[in-house]
Amino acid sequence: MNIADQIREVRLNINQYCAQAGRSPSRVKLLAVSKTHPAIAIQDAYESGITEFGESYLQESLVKIEECKHIPIIWHFIGPIQSNKTRPIAENFDWVQSVDREKIITRLDQQRPPQLGPLKVCIQANLFNEPQKKGVSQEQLTQLLAIAAALPNIQLRGLMVIPPKRDTYQEQLAQFNQVSEIFNELRKEFTNMDTLSMGMSGDMEAAIASGSNMVRVGTGIFGPRRNN
Ligand SMILES: *Cc1c(COP(=O)(O)O)cnc(C)c1O
Repeated sequence: MNIADQIREVRLNINQYCAQAGRSPSRVKLLAVSKTHPAIAIQDAYESGITEFGESYLQESLVKIEECKHIPIIWHFIGPIQSNKTRPIAENFDWVQSVDREKIITRLDQQRPPQLGPLKVCIQANLFNEPQKKGVSQEQLTQLLAIAAALPNIQLRGLMVIPPKRDTYQEQLAQFNQVSEIFNELRKEFTNMDTLSMGMSGDMEAAIASGSNMVRVGTGIFGPRRNN
């Protein structure tokens, strides 16, 4: 299948999962995760109506942002962030979803060119205490959110979560429901947060059932990742 067909199928799936959950598809943003795929694939997806793209590897992404600068794409950085690499992220991206510590958020704030407007940020949370995985722990989450909410060049938008991989829908749903509960609790204090970014190609249905409003889909749109 080509990219246009894949996108059509992903959108049909999103519509169906939203219908099952009694939700409006207009409330679930589709982020196309284009890491390892070339600029031409991004341009194809754009032709099919995708406007927001997620990238994980900084060097690769900067090349593609340059190659795609003639089209008005909204770029999300979703990969691991080294503290000495924050400047190009602050200068070239619209969103960063993988912020997991104070040092990173303060540097992004300092390095964001004010004329670009505040950088939209989701804090990556590790809510299931997985030691090998990125993300701030639940215990430290409120503190990091408070820091992010107070910075002038940062617009705190929400949480990004990658729960442990589970094979059944019921297990995925149980985890996502836990995340949703935590998110809704935090929104009482951080009332401007409007984004719960969770769900990927393999667990989108459960994520949408439990209230995700941004799904990050790579393989489902572009096929298997390339080793370039
Ligand atoms: C690669 C990646 C995705 C996309 O995963 P697929 O399973 O290919 O849909 C989503 N989120 C993050 C943070 C990623 O790194």
